[in-house]
Amino acid sequence: MIINKNEIANILTKLAEEYLVIAPVQKDGIVQFSAIKNGAEACLTFANTKKPGKEILFPQSEELYSYTIDTEGVRMQANVDQKETIVFGMRPCDVKSLVLLDNVFKNDQYQDVYYLTRRANTLIVGLGCNEPAATCFCSNMACGPFAKEGSDIFLTDIGEAYVAEGISEKGQALLAKLGLGSATAEQKALANQLQAETKADGGVNIAGIAEKLGGMFEHPFWDSLHEKCLGCAACTYLCPTCHCFDIADEATDCNGCRVRNWDACMFPLFTLHGSGHNPRPNGKARWRQRLMHKFNYFVDRYNATACVGCGRCIKNCPVNLDIRQALADIRALD
Ligand code: SF4
Ligand code: SF4
Repeated sequence: MIINKNEIANILTKLAEEYLVIAPVQKDGIVQFSAIKNGAEACLTFANTKKPGKEILFPQSEELYSYTIDTEGVRMQANVDQKETIVFGMRPCDVKSLVLLDNVFKNDQYQDVYYLTRRANTLIVGLGCNEPAATCFCSNMACGPFAKEGSDIFLTDIGEAYVAEGISEKGQALLAKLGLGSATAEQKALANQLQAETKADGGVNIAGIAEKLGGMFEHPFWDSLHEKCLGCAACTYLCPTCHCFDIADEATDCNGCRVRNWDACMFPLFTLHGSGHNPRPNGKARWRQRLMHKFNYFVDRYNATACVGCGRCIKNCPVNLDIRQALADIRALD
């Protein structure tokens, strides 16, 4: 199928009459995902959004349920979001991160009704990256600028138009409903060429890293790696695969709600116990945890690394700590 770029705004406006449509928009000086009513708000010429796409299914802050206490007892109202949603224009690394997060929010020990309900009601239109940023290394991380895993529809920008492929059944059904024209053989060939030739190669080689990390918990390598780190947690907050959260009650008198907020293992207070003891008391322990979790524990548990090579942690670290370099240094150790 083919979507001419001058038709996109109208298509999105029409979809927004029926669905919650979330697209990248230019807002407050950054590109970020936001609900739109008018398709002209969508900004599809961006390297990547500042905050990752995970926030659509796993919001930075969400009310899980509200409660009221009265003489009858406690009444609770769960707030499960059930809106039919279309996410239009998510980059392949962020789409892949949702595939990884599915493991965390639905497994034999735990099923997160809030995430899973949104997931079931959300259709994802992935958008390939013609010009990956210098910090991107998704091609090294079982992903890539045109990886289609997790997308329901996949768009390839061929200049004046997007070649649209229906990947899942629900994606194909939506494309059929839009009544689009077919891509010509020339347009398909151009899309195929872009998909085959565009790479985001950061020179990262993770072959054998998980096994190596498995024997490195006490290695002196960790002693200096963290030295510049400020503990700001930008790297983990903005990471599309990081998924730690904290739960707090916000209450006044007899009414309240239980709220889930993102948290991050790079914050010094993340593991602080009520007793004052902190099992990860310093940058060394926290950096080790970050890398171990992404490249060893997650691999052990889900057979995949918890990194999609989006480069946000590199771009946003105030002291230029670079996960690609850390991985190269680990590889180089005897
Ligand atoms: S670790 Fe860094 S590069 Fe990897 S997915 Fe997270 S933010 Fe992106
Ligand atoms: S963004 Fe950089 S300084 Fe901040 S916690 Fe991460 S590694 Fe440390």
